[in-house]
Amino acid sequence: MDAVPVDVVTLAKKWFIDVRFEKLEPNVSGFLFVKSGKATVVINQEQPVVRQRFTVAHELGHYVLHADKEEDIFIDEKISIYHRANRNGSNAVIDAGREKEANRFAAELLMPKNMLFKTLIRLGEPDISDDLTIYRVANIFAVSEQALNIRMTDLGLFL
Ligand SMILES: [Zn+2]
Repeated sequence: MDAVPVDVVTLAKKWFIDVRFEKLEPNVSGFLFVKSGKATVVINQEQPVVRQRFTVAHELGHYVLHADKEEDIFIDEKISIYHRANRNGSNAVIDAGREKEANRFAAELLMPKNMLFKTLIRLGEPDISDDLTIYRVANIFAVSEQALNIRMTDLGLFL
């Protein structure tokens, strides 16, 4: 994959994961559920598009890294994040470790390191501490400026 913005919905389809955009409770960004071996990602259609894209990628991360491939559910709320095992659905637990992993997976998927460097070079190696640069690059990758800032910090670009 060497095109940005990364088409996360097409990627999900390649992995046989359905992605649906629906009206959800305002505090829910999206969720992943696996039922009888079939995975579906449902995204809150009322959140900003960049947020929706990140949530799709985040849920794909849960699928790849964490989900039971037969029955499972992951619900992502704006503030608190829960993973509920399907068999004891009442037992909601916050699992910060898994959330971090899913976020990292999403960041790597949406902002591949080589594409990020190529883009910065193509833009003439601009000053990355400049808000305008962050704005332009975030637009190219169709991610939020916040997500880009975190990714670039993780890559050590702000040293
Ligand atoms: Zn999550």
